Amino acid sequence: MTKSNILTDTFGRKHNYLRISLTERCNLRCTYCMPADGIQLSPKDHIMTYEEIFTIAKQFVDHGVTKIRLTGGEPLVRKDAAQIIEKLSSLPVQLTLTTNGVIVDKFIELFKKCGIKTLNVSLDSLDSQKNKEITRRQYFKKVYNNIILLVNQGFNVKVNCVLMKGFNDNEIIDFINLSKDLPLHVRFIEFMPFDGNQWKMDKLVSLKEILSEVHSNFKKEDIIKLEDAPNDTTKSYQIKNYQGTFAIISSVTNPFCDGCNRVRLTANGQIKNCLFSSSESDLLTPLRKGKSIAPIIEKAVKAKFKIRSGMDTLDKFKRIDGHNNRSMITIGG
Ligand code: SAM
Ligand code: SF4
Repeated sequence: MTKSNILTDTFGRKHNYLRISLTERCNLRCTYCMPADGIQLSPKDHIMTYEEIFTIAKQFVDHGVTKIRLTGGEPLVRKDAAQIIEKLSSLPVQLTLTTNGVIVDKFIELFKKCGIKTLNVSLDSLDSQKNKEITRRQYFKKVYNNIILLVNQGFNVKVNCVLMKGFNDNEIIDFINLSKDLPLHVRFIEFMPFDGNQWKMDKLVSLKEILSEVHSNFKKEDIIKLEDAPNDTTKSYQIKNYQGTFAIISSVTNPFCDGCNRVRLTANGQIKNCLFSSSESDLLTPLRKGKSIAPIIEKAVKAKFKIRSGMDTLDKFKRIDGHNNRSMITIGG
Protein backbone atom coordinates (compact mmCIF):
# COMPACT_ATOMS: atom_id res chain seq x y z
CA MET A 1 0.00 0.00 0.00
CA THR A 2 1.32 3.49 -0.83
CA LYS A 3 1.89 5.58 2.23
CA SER A 4 0.18 8.97 2.13
CA ASN A 5 1.43 11.89 4.14
CA ILE A 6 -1.52 12.32 6.52
CA LEU A 7 0.85 11.76 9.46
CA THR A 8 3.28 14.49 8.40
CA ASP A 9 2.70 17.84 10.11
CA THR A 10 3.27 21.35 8.81
CA PHE A 11 6.84 21.32 10.19
CA GLY A 12 7.70 18.18 8.22
CA ARG A 13 7.66 15.89 11.25
CA LYS A 14 6.61 12.36 10.34
CA HIS A 15 4.52 10.69 13.02
CA ASN A 16 5.37 7.02 12.96
CA TYR A 17 4.91 6.31 16.67
CA LEU A 18 1.45 5.80 18.15
CA ARG A 19 0.80 5.57 21.87
CA ILE A 20 -2.50 3.96 22.73
CA SER A 21 -4.03 4.23 26.17
CA LEU A 22 -5.99 1.05 26.88
CA THR A 23 -7.73 2.22 30.03
CA GLU A 24 -8.22 5.10 32.46
CA ARG A 25 -8.12 2.65 35.37
CA CYS A 26 -5.11 1.81 37.47
CA ASN A 27 -4.11 -0.36 40.41
CA LEU A 28 -1.88 2.46 41.75
CA ARG A 29 -2.63 6.09 42.58
CA CYS A 30 0.61 7.97 41.88
CA THR A 31 0.28 11.49 43.21
CA TYR A 32 1.81 13.10 40.11
CA CYS A 33 -0.59 11.30 37.81
CA MET A 34 -3.87 10.64 39.60
CA PRO A 35 -5.57 13.56 41.41
CA ALA A 36 -6.12 12.99 45.16
CA ASP A 37 -9.91 12.87 44.69
CA GLY A 38 -9.63 10.36 41.86
CA ILE A 39 -11.02 11.00 38.39
CA GLN A 40 -14.39 10.80 36.72
CA LEU A 41 -14.01 7.69 34.57
CA SER A 42 -15.46 7.80 31.06
CA PRO A 43 -18.66 5.74 30.77
CA LYS A 44 -17.81 2.18 29.74
CA ASP A 45 -19.42 2.55 26.32
CA HIS A 46 -17.19 5.56 25.58
CA ILE A 47 -14.07 3.40 25.89
CA MET A 48 -12.71 1.86 22.70
CA THR A 49 -13.44 -1.84 22.36
CA TYR A 50 -10.84 -4.39 21.41
CA GLU A 51 -12.02 -4.32 17.78
CA GLU A 52 -12.06 -0.51 17.64
CA ILE A 53 -8.52 -0.29 18.98
CA PHE A 54 -7.35 -2.65 16.28
CA THR A 55 -9.26 -0.86 13.50
CA ILE A 56 -7.85 2.54 14.48
CA ALA A 57 -4.33 1.19 15.02
CA LYS A 58 -4.42 -0.48 11.61
CA GLN A 59 -5.34 2.83 9.95
CA PHE A 60 -2.32 4.46 11.55
CA VAL A 61 -0.09 1.58 10.48
CA ASP A 62 -1.42 1.79 6.93
CA HIS A 63 -0.32 5.44 6.93
CA GLY A 64 3.18 4.83 8.21
CA VAL A 65 3.16 4.06 11.93
CA THR A 66 5.93 1.57 12.73
CA LYS A 67 5.88 1.62 16.53
CA ILE A 68 2.99 1.25 18.98
CA ARG A 69 3.23 1.69 22.74
CA LEU A 70 0.38 0.58 24.98
CA THR A 71 -0.12 2.65 28.06
CA GLY A 72 -2.86 3.96 30.34
CA GLY A 73 -3.85 4.10 33.26
CA GLU A 74 -2.32 0.73 33.78
CA PRO A 75 -2.66 -1.11 30.46
CA LEU A 76 -2.40 -4.56 32.04
CA VAL A 77 -5.45 -4.12 34.33
CA ARG A 78 -7.76 -4.04 31.34
CA LYS A 79 -9.59 -7.40 31.25
CA ASP A 80 -8.92 -8.02 27.57
CA ALA A 81 -5.34 -6.64 27.66
CA ALA A 82 -3.87 -10.01 26.58
CA GLN A 83 -6.27 -10.28 23.66
CA ILE A 84 -5.48 -6.71 22.53
CA ILE A 85 -1.71 -7.28 22.78
CA GLU A 86 -1.96 -10.46 20.76
CA LYS A 87 -4.10 -8.86 18.07
CA LEU A 88 -1.88 -5.78 17.75
CA SER A 89 1.18 -8.02 17.49
CA SER A 90 -0.17 -9.17 14.12
CA LEU A 91 0.55 -5.67 12.75
CA PRO A 92 3.99 -4.93 11.23
CA VAL A 93 5.10 -2.70 14.12
CA GLN A 94 7.44 -2.66 17.07
CA LEU A 95 5.00 -3.26 19.92
CA THR A 96 5.86 -2.16 23.43
CA LEU A 97 4.27 -1.15 26.74
CA THR A 98 4.63 1.21 29.64
CA THR A 99 3.51 -0.45 32.86
CA ASN A 100 3.72 0.06 36.61
CA GLY A 101 4.99 -3.52 36.81
CA VAL A 102 2.60 -4.71 39.53
CA ILE A 103 1.16 -7.65 37.55
CA VAL A 104 3.67 -7.86 34.73
CA ASP A 105 4.85 -11.33 35.82
CA LYS A 106 1.54 -12.79 34.60
CA PHE A 107 2.24 -11.60 31.04
CA ILE A 108 5.79 -12.78 30.43
CA GLU A 109 4.91 -15.71 28.19
CA LEU A 110 2.44 -13.59 26.22
CA PHE A 111 5.05 -10.88 25.68
CA LYS A 112 7.50 -13.46 24.37
CA LYS A 113 4.88 -14.96 22.09
CA CYS A 114 3.99 -11.49 20.75
CA GLY A 115 7.58 -10.47 20.08
CA ILE A 116 7.62 -7.74 22.75
CA LYS A 117 11.25 -7.16 23.63
CA THR A 118 11.34 -3.80 25.41
CA LEU A 119 9.23 -2.64 28.35
CA ASN A 120 9.14 0.57 30.34
CA VAL A 121 8.42 0.00 34.03
CA SER A 122 7.75 2.89 36.41
CA LEU A 123 9.48 3.01 39.77
CA ASP A 124 10.01 6.28 41.64
CA SER A 125 11.78 5.21 44.80
CA LEU A 126 13.96 2.34 45.95
CA ASP A 127 12.64 2.86 49.47
CA SER A 128 9.50 0.84 50.09
CA GLN A 129 7.90 3.43 52.42
CA LYS A 130 8.51 6.30 50.02
CA ASN A 131 7.18 4.22 47.21
CA LYS A 132 4.00 3.65 49.17
CA GLU A 133 3.74 7.39 49.75
CA ILE A 134 4.00 8.25 46.06
CA THR A 135 1.84 5.41 44.68
CA ARG A 136 -0.61 5.40 47.63
CA ARG A 137 -0.34 1.59 47.50
CA GLN A 138 2.13 -0.95 48.92
CA TYR A 139 3.55 -2.86 45.95
CA PHE A 140 7.22 -1.91 46.04
CA LYS A 141 8.58 -5.46 46.50
CA LYS A 142 6.34 -6.84 43.79
CA VAL A 143 7.41 -4.19 41.27
CA TYR A 144 11.10 -4.41 42.17
CA ASN A 145 11.08 -8.21 41.87
CA ASN A 146 9.20 -8.01 38.59
CA ILE A 147 11.83 -5.65 37.16
CA ILE A 148 14.54 -8.20 38.06
CA LEU A 149 12.40 -10.99 36.62
CA LEU A 150 11.97 -9.14 33.31
CA VAL A 151 15.71 -8.50 33.07
CA ASN A 152 16.47 -12.16 33.84
CA GLN A 153 13.97 -13.23 31.21
CA GLY A 154 15.93 -11.27 28.62
CA PHE A 155 13.70 -8.22 28.20
CA ASN A 156 15.21 -4.81 27.57
CA VAL A 157 13.89 -2.92 30.61
CA LYS A 158 13.69 0.84 30.99
CA VAL A 159 12.92 2.04 34.50
CA ASN A 160 10.96 5.33 34.50
CA CYS A 161 11.54 7.49 37.57
CA VAL A 162 9.76 10.85 37.99
CA LEU A 163 12.00 13.00 40.17
CA MET A 164 10.54 15.41 42.71
CA LYS A 165 12.57 17.82 44.79
CA GLY A 166 12.87 16.92 48.46
CA PHE A 167 11.19 13.58 47.83
CA ASN A 168 13.34 11.27 45.73
CA ASP A 169 16.09 13.51 44.34
CA ASN A 170 18.43 12.04 46.97
CA GLU A 171 18.08 8.66 45.18
CA ILE A 172 19.53 9.68 41.80
CA ILE A 173 22.82 7.89 42.46
CA ASP A 174 21.09 4.82 43.97
CA PHE A 175 19.02 4.53 40.80
CA ILE A 176 22.11 4.90 38.59
CA ASN A 177 23.85 2.23 40.68
CA LEU A 178 20.98 -0.12 39.88
CA SER A 179 22.48 -0.18 36.39
CA LYS A 180 25.88 -1.32 37.70
CA ASP A 181 25.19 -5.04 37.76
CA LEU A 182 21.89 -5.11 35.88
CA PRO A 183 21.65 -4.32 32.14
CA LEU A 184 18.70 -1.97 32.61
CA HIS A 185 18.13 1.60 31.57
CA VAL A 186 17.13 4.13 34.20
CA ARG A 187 15.29 7.18 32.87
CA PHE A 188 14.82 10.24 35.04
CA ILE A 189 11.72 12.16 34.00
CA GLU A 190 11.15 15.80 34.86
CA PHE A 191 7.89 16.27 36.77
CA MET A 192 5.28 17.67 34.35
CA PRO A 193 2.09 19.64 35.04
CA PHE A 194 -1.28 17.96 34.53
CA ASP A 195 -4.68 18.61 35.95
CA GLY A 196 -4.85 17.91 39.68
CA ASN A 197 -1.20 16.97 40.23
CA GLN A 198 -0.15 20.01 42.32
CA TRP A 199 2.70 20.78 39.94
CA LYS A 200 5.06 23.57 40.88
CA MET A 201 8.22 24.53 39.06
CA ASP A 202 10.19 24.32 42.30
CA LYS A 203 9.25 20.65 42.75
CA LEU A 204 10.90 19.81 39.45
CA VAL A 205 14.43 18.38 39.33
CA SER A 206 15.96 19.67 36.12
CA LEU A 207 18.31 18.09 33.63
CA LYS A 208 21.00 20.48 34.88
CA GLU A 209 20.50 19.50 38.51
CA ILE A 210 20.55 15.78 37.72
CA LEU A 211 23.80 16.14 35.79
CA SER A 212 25.33 18.19 38.57
CA GLU A 213 24.51 15.41 41.07
CA VAL A 214 26.05 12.85 38.70
CA HIS A 215 29.21 14.93 38.33
CA SER A 216 29.54 15.28 42.11
CA ASN A 217 29.48 11.52 42.52
CA PHE A 218 31.40 10.10 39.58
CA LYS A 219 34.72 11.00 38.01
CA LYS A 220 34.37 13.04 34.81
CA GLU A 221 36.18 10.41 32.73
CA ASP A 222 33.78 7.70 33.97
CA ILE A 223 30.64 9.50 32.75
CA ILE A 224 30.14 8.48 29.15
CA LYS A 225 27.68 10.42 26.96
CA LEU A 226 25.90 8.00 24.64
CA GLU A 227 24.57 8.86 21.22
CA ASP A 228 20.83 9.60 21.08
CA ALA A 229 18.66 8.51 18.16
CA PRO A 230 17.07 11.36 16.10
CA ASN A 231 13.58 10.95 17.62
CA ASP A 232 14.84 10.20 21.11
CA THR A 233 13.34 12.19 23.94
CA THR A 234 16.25 11.28 26.18
CA LYS A 235 19.82 12.33 26.80
CA SER A 236 21.60 9.07 27.54
CA TYR A 237 24.68 8.30 29.61
CA GLN A 238 26.58 5.35 30.97
CA ILE A 239 28.96 5.03 33.87
CA LYS A 240 32.16 3.29 32.83
CA ASN A 241 31.98 -0.50 33.33
CA TYR A 242 28.29 -0.40 34.31
CA GLN A 243 26.10 -2.92 32.51
CA GLY A 244 23.15 -0.59 32.08
CA THR A 245 22.69 3.09 31.28
CA PHE A 246 20.79 6.11 32.52
CA ALA A 247 19.01 8.91 30.71
CA ILE A 248 17.18 12.15 31.35
CA ILE A 249 13.83 13.14 29.85
CA SER A 250 13.59 16.90 30.15
CA SER A 251 10.22 17.82 28.64
CA VAL A 252 10.01 20.96 30.76
CA THR A 253 13.47 22.54 30.88
CA ASN A 254 14.75 21.28 27.56
CA PRO A 255 11.88 20.17 25.30
CA PHE A 256 12.62 17.80 22.45
CA CYS A 257 9.77 18.81 20.15
CA ASP A 258 11.91 19.19 17.00
CA GLY A 259 12.17 15.46 16.51
CA CYS A 260 8.72 14.58 17.85
CA ASN A 261 7.24 11.61 16.01
CA ARG A 262 4.45 10.75 18.48
CA VAL A 263 0.74 10.91 18.40
CA ARG A 264 -1.52 9.74 21.22
CA LEU A 265 -4.83 7.95 21.26
CA THR A 266 -6.74 8.10 24.55
CA ALA A 267 -8.77 5.18 25.88
CA ASN A 268 -11.96 6.98 24.85
CA GLY A 269 -10.79 7.30 21.27
CA GLN A 270 -9.52 10.90 21.07
CA ILE A 271 -6.31 11.87 19.30
CA LYS A 272 -3.96 14.18 21.13
CA ASN A 273 -1.31 15.56 18.83
CA CYS A 274 0.86 16.57 21.80
CA LEU A 275 1.05 15.50 25.43
CA PHE A 276 0.45 19.15 26.42
CA SER A 277 -2.32 19.86 23.97
CA SER A 278 -5.64 20.87 25.50
CA SER A 279 -7.54 20.10 22.31
CA GLU A 280 -8.42 16.63 21.11
CA SER A 281 -9.97 15.10 18.02
CA ASP A 282 -12.66 12.48 18.37
CA LEU A 283 -12.06 9.38 16.25
CA LEU A 284 -14.40 7.01 18.04
CA THR A 285 -17.74 8.68 17.28
CA PRO A 286 -17.12 8.94 13.52
CA LEU A 287 -15.71 5.42 13.48
CA ARG A 288 -18.89 4.12 15.11
CA LYS A 289 -20.95 6.00 12.52
CA GLY A 290 -19.02 4.26 9.76
CA LYS A 291 -17.27 7.46 8.62
CA SER A 292 -13.70 7.68 7.38
CA ILE A 293 -11.31 8.70 10.16
CA ALA A 294 -8.29 9.40 7.93
CA PRO A 295 -9.27 13.07 7.31
CA ILE A 296 -9.70 13.63 11.06
CA ILE A 297 -6.30 12.12 11.78
CA GLU A 298 -4.77 14.32 9.09
CA LYS A 299 -6.41 17.50 10.44
CA ALA A 300 -5.25 16.71 14.00
CA VAL A 301 -1.68 16.08 12.91
CA LYS A 302 -1.58 19.21 10.74
CA ALA A 303 -2.81 21.29 13.72
CA LYS A 304 0.20 20.31 15.82
CA PHE A 305 2.21 23.24 17.19
CA LYS A 306 5.97 23.44 16.76
CA ILE A 307 6.71 23.33 20.48
CA ARG A 308 4.71 21.95 23.45
CA SER A 309 1.32 22.82 22.07
CA GLY A 310 2.23 26.50 21.70
CA MET A 311 3.90 26.90 25.09
CA ASP A 312 7.23 27.61 23.50
CA THR A 313 8.84 29.36 26.45
CA LEU A 314 9.24 28.11 29.99
CA ASP A 315 7.35 31.20 31.17
CA LYS A 316 4.24 30.37 29.13
CA PHE A 317 4.52 26.80 30.32
CA LYS A 318 4.66 27.77 34.00
CA ARG A 319 1.57 29.96 33.59
CA ILE A 320 -0.49 27.09 32.16
CA ASP A 321 0.22 24.87 35.16
CA GLY A 322 -1.60 21.85 33.77
CA HIS A 323 -5.07 23.26 34.40
CA ASN A 324 -6.14 23.13 30.80
CA ASN A 325 -5.07 19.54 30.27
CA ARG A 326 -6.47 16.21 31.39
CA SER A 327 -4.89 14.32 34.26
CA MET A 328 -2.02 12.19 33.04
CA ILE A 329 -3.89 9.03 34.01
CA THR A 330 -6.53 9.74 31.35
CA ILE A 331 -4.01 10.72 28.66
CA GLY A 332 -1.56 7.86 28.71
CA GLY A 333 2.07 8.88 29.22
N1 SAM B 1 0.61 2.88 34.49
C1 SAM B 1 1.74 2.85 33.64
C2 SAM B 1 2.98 3.34 34.36
O1 SAM B 1 2.86 3.92 35.43
O2 SAM B 1 4.07 3.12 33.83
C3 SAM B 1 1.54 3.58 32.34
C4 SAM B 1 0.87 4.91 32.40
S1 SAM B 1 1.79 6.22 33.17
C5 SAM B 1 0.69 7.58 32.95
C6 SAM B 1 3.07 6.49 31.99
C7 SAM B 1 4.29 7.24 32.46
O3 SAM B 1 3.93 8.57 32.73
C8 SAM B 1 4.88 6.69 33.76
O4 SAM B 1 6.25 6.41 33.57
C9 SAM B 1 4.73 7.81 34.73
O5 SAM B 1 5.77 7.87 35.65
C10 SAM B 1 4.70 9.03 33.81
N2 SAM B 1 4.04 10.18 34.41
C11 SAM B 1 2.80 10.25 34.94
N3 SAM B 1 2.54 11.50 35.40
C12 SAM B 1 3.65 12.23 35.17
C13 SAM B 1 4.02 13.59 35.44
N4 SAM B 1 3.18 14.44 36.03
N5 SAM B 1 5.25 14.00 35.07
C14 SAM B 1 6.11 13.15 34.48
N6 SAM B 1 5.82 11.87 34.18
C15 SAM B 1 4.62 11.40 34.54
FE1 SF4 C 1 -1.22 4.45 37.51
FE2 SF4 C 1 0.91 4.75 35.98
FE3 SF4 C 1 -0.51 6.87 36.72
FE4 SF4 C 1 0.90 5.61 38.54
S1 SF4 C 1 1.72 6.67 36.74
S2 SF4 C 1 -1.25 6.24 38.75
S3 SF4 C 1 0.79 3.55 37.84
S4 SF4 C 1 -1.19 5.26 35.43
